[in-house]
Amino acid sequence: SNTTTRGEKGVNVQVILRCRPLSDEETKSNTPVVISCNERRREVAATQIIANKQIDRTFAFDKVFGPSSKQKDLFEQSISPIVNEVLEGYNCTIFAYGQTGTGKTYTMEGGGTRKTKNGELPTDAGVIPRAVRQIFDILEAQCAEYSMKVTFLELYNEEITDLLAPEEPKFPVPEDKTKKPIALMEDGKGFVFVRGLEEEIVYSAGEIYKILDKGSAKRRTAETLLNKQSSRSHSIFSITIHIKELTHEGEEMIKIGKLNLVDLAGSENISRSGARDGRAREAGEINKSLLTLGRVINALVEHSGHVPYRKNGEERRGVGVEGGDTSGRASSSLWVPSPAVIGGGRRAWVAAGCL
Ligand code: ADP
Ligand code: MG
Repeated sequence: SNTTTRGEKGVNVQVILRCRPLSDEETKSNTPVVISCNERRREVAATQIIANKQIDRTFAFDKVFGPSSKQKDLFEQSISPIVNEVLEGYNCTIFAYGQTGTGKTYTMEGGGTRKTKNGELPTDAGVIPRAVRQIFDILEAQCAEYSMKVTFLELYNEEITDLLAPEEPKFPVPEDKTKKPIALMEDGKGFVFVRGLEEEIVYSAGEIYKILDKGSAKRRTAETLLNKQSSRSHSIFSITIHIKELTHEGEEMIKIGKLNLVDLAGSENISRSGARDGRAREAGEINKSLLTLGRVINALVEHSGHVPYRKNGEERRGVGVEGGDTSGRASSSLWVPSPAVIGGGRRAWVAAGCL
């Protein structure tokens, strides 16, 4: 909770806590409730028994959502303002962090009935489908001229899997020698991008829902093969939106916003549960990336000039990625191939005439 900023002006990072209700099994087995949420005071009290002594500790957050909180309320109160900023041309990232089973995927994707019926979102739809709905509602209300693309990847053991890549062909075909493996790259201007990632151009919310289902299904297939991989992998769904706008002087500009929606790997200490060898390596990698993420967020909150985006000694200054975007700008777009970012920083404006 030491990263929380309690709504301080000009601060880029907010920490929101959500506590899930007890599951049926937990209720049946009389699992004690050791957490109490005070939504009004934005505090959580946790009870710990250490050496037969009961210790109560209180943690403060920017916002607290208790066990009876609804998907709709969490979205409207905490996420919707961020989606508006994306449409203003900012890069924003929403991370779900916590131990396995605490409700990260439920909060980000939604419950069992997350599929839309006649375009209507079910009540247990999570942050991602709701953000998509809001983006299209606003663009349509503004009659905006826009282009949008999405990527969906999974990071497991420091390796990237493209959840949108076409299925492997079932019969042998000549290998495409020009196809480079997926890799995290820097473009020399201080931006980070993922090379070789499938980018799907999308025109409707329905199309994105289909893509999400496809990607999630791919994630689940891998899960059964690799024994609950999802609890040990991060998934990143990114939406990049280019909006055409005229300035007061009548000059055409393109506003670029990006929203990263991240379901992080479980934060539990896997080694404590007896994992060894391969698993221990996994645990190490996960902890390393979660540790790095924690350091980056702390540095952003503390406004220290140096943000340690790179580990393994390749650290560098965070150029143009303030505002919470740790994945950087996408490599290309529909209208402006390799755009030159004017003004840099949080608001990425690209002059359409710069081609
Ligand atoms: P995680 O992704 O953190 O491992 P899940 O999202 O899979 O956890 O949640 C674990 C279980 O708890 C799931 O069955 C999920 O449907 C349920 N759950 C999580 N959060 C809530 C909530 N706020 N309300 C109702 N059920 C929830
Ligand atoms: Mg999950």
